[in-house]
Amino acid sequence: MKKRLRRAGQKWRAVSLNVCSECGSATPSHIACPSCGFYKGRQVITVKEL
Ligand SMILES: [Zn+2]
Repeated sequence: MKKRLRRAGQKWRAVSLNVCSECGSATPSHIACPSCGFYKGRQVITVKEL
């Protein structure tokens, strides 16, 4: 039972990085780009610039 919880915690650290197709910065996969807000070719979050 406790082993299961440990594995779930480790999964968070095993996030692979993608390269944003919009701005080219390293972005965790399955997460919208923190720099430009794009995810899978479309803007999903609004990023404040400046
Ligand atoms: Zn980006």
